[in-house]
Amino acid sequence: ATPTAVMVSTGKGATQGVLIKGGAALEMARNVDCIVFDKTGTLTKGEPSVVNTKLFQNIALKVFFTIVASAEANSEHPLAKAIVEYAKGLSAEEPFEQQQVEDFKAIPGQGIQAVVMGKGLLVGNQKLMSENGVSLPLEASEQLKDVEVLARTAVLVAVDGELTGIISIADPIKPEAPAVISMLKLMKIKSIIVTGDNRGTALAVAREVGIRTEDVIAEADPKAKAERVKELQSAGMVIAMVGDGINDSPALVAADVGVAIGAGTDIAIEAADIVLMKSHLEDVVTAIDLSRKTFSRIR
Ligand code: ADP
Ligand code: MG
Repeated sequence: ATPTAVMVSTGKGATQGVLIKGGAALEMARNVDCIVFDKTGTLTKGEPSVVNTKLFQNIALKVFFTIVASAEANSEHPLAKAIVEYAKGLSAEEPFEQQQVEDFKAIPGQGIQAVVMGKGLLVGNQKLMSENGVSLPLEASEQLKDVEVLARTAVLVAVDGELTGIISIADPIKPEAPAVISMLKLMKIKSIIVTGDNRGTALAVAREVGIRTEDVIAEADPKAKAERVKELQSAGMVIAMVGDGINDSPALVAADVGVAIGAGTDIAIEAADIVLMKSHLEDVVTAIDLSRKTFSRIR
């Protein structure tokens, strides 16, 4: 393709809301044979909301959410925002009182820890619990299975080392996701999910969008996401990574083509080669089509 043709295609992409940062990205996109999708905010809408809560200790729901939301107010994570919103709505006439939070720490890919009302608090996934020596009562393990099979995320809460509650959070898939995955299949492009979320939830989302069980990578922190991309590359595949979060940026950089969701975080957008300005998954196909058309020359 001539430089002019590349310029014309890049411009065409831009008018369709597909921002391609340079000719190299446009050229590489046609070679992609595997796409690694982040789950939260990429395959799902990224609009999580609390659907139910199960408590395992004798604590009032309002006190429970006051402690948890006070700590989560310090986090930028979408799950944290969902929890704070829910806590605010619990009693509209008497909103929860933000408590003083000490020693707040975010653990990427796992959750948060803090001291609230003099109590040691852990909020996050199973890995966070196991790494801090919090054991799960049988009742909790059963609840986890029930939550995950519904493609929901289980947020576990431990107070002073005791598992105190499980908050179930739903984040529906983007309506176009299943069609995009099947379209990619027709284009002979394999789709994989990589997520920091737990395996049960990841499998349920995979089932909903039409990705095979063996193509699900769960409980991956930001570094692990990038490592999996590199592994796939060393198996000889050309990889596009689609993601929206800070936690995806190392993988976006590692991929042959990094694709950021426009509604995602600035860091992901900076790390990517292509930005889907409309945050529409179909535009992954638009980008590849554009690349194929630009670089398939008639001999
Ligand atoms: P994803 O790869 O799905 O976008 P992240 O890497 O951001 O997910 O987070 C992975 C997991 O870590 C989440 O599914 C959640 O279980 C846990 N987690 C991270 N941050 C928080 C938080 N602030 N509150 C509760 N859980 C969290
Ligand atoms: Mg995400």
